[in-house]
Amino acid sequence: MAEWLAGKTIVVTGASSGIGRSTAIEFARTSPRDLKLVITARRVDRLKQLAEDIKNLVGDGVQVLPVKLDVSNPADVAGFLDGLPAEFRDIDILVNNAGLGRGVARAPDIAMDDVRLMLDTNVHGLIGMTQAVLPVMLARSTHGAGDIINVGSIAGREPYAGASVYCATKAATKSFTQALRQELVASRIRIIEIDPGQVKTEFSEHRYYGDKSKAEAGYADCEPLTAEDVAELIVFAAGRRENVVVADTLILPNHQF
Ligand code: NDP
Repeated sequence: MAEWLAGKTIVVTGASSGIGRSTAIEFARTSPRDLKLVITARRVDRLKQLAEDIKNLVGDGVQVLPVKLDVSNPADVAGFLDGLPAEFRDIDILVNNAGLGRGVARAPDIAMDDVRLMLDTNVHGLIGMTQAVLPVMLARSTHGAGDIINVGSIAGREPYAGASVYCATKAATKSFTQALRQELVASRIRIIEIDPGQVKTEFSEHRYYGDKSKAEAGYADCEPLTAEDVAELIVFAAGRRENVVVADTLILPNHQF
């Protein structure tokens, strides 16, 4: 049982698969009692199953609340906090993880719908959720202040051909995160960014529009990270003593540079 997590309320976006799902599980494993977990995504059936999986893993000590939330939908984001039961609104940790890449194409050929989807999800969604939750953290004076943990990508550091817009969304994440950290430097709120390299999740399948064989081919010559590898780092970052911020961290599989 991790004392530092006792009594905390955590929100994870994009918890229906991959890194978000593993992060929710890792928080629950780390603090199997006295924790409130708000797990969000569009696929509610997956979230309900995750809530069941966490209950089977750690018992009833963790309260898990599945919430349908499309971060690219401004109305969903605007209504998020007020839509929570009162006992889940005092949020301590927000993990801004929801995101996606669409297509492999040179810039002139990227479908505008895909451009909008990536920007709306990875950029507007992350900024919107930050704006939705920050007032709770800023208002808190009695116990801690809060952590905002943004999942960026190596793509935000080193752009590559065929993914210009996805890379741009992750570069935007980094700029936003860094500026926010400066703005909040006098507060006790910690702004954390975790940038994974290649992770084996459903990410590639969505990128290839559901073509599993193309997605699998991308892992042929390498051993990617697992979602659990990244989740462990996220929980590690949240668990540092209050004066320490794991500000901006790259996590890579050993073959990647
Ligand atoms: P997955 O596809 O497994 O998970 C993505 C999650 O995001 C799902 O839970 C999905 O849920 C959610 N999501 C997508 N769009 C929305 C939306 N509009 N509103 C709410 N939730 C949404 O991929 P990963 O776990 O790999 O991706 C998680 C994060 O990690 C992303 O930000 C990604 O960019 C980043 N990343 C991934 C890497 C990789 O190699 N896999 C490398 C570097 C960074 P649902 O569809 O149910 O809404």
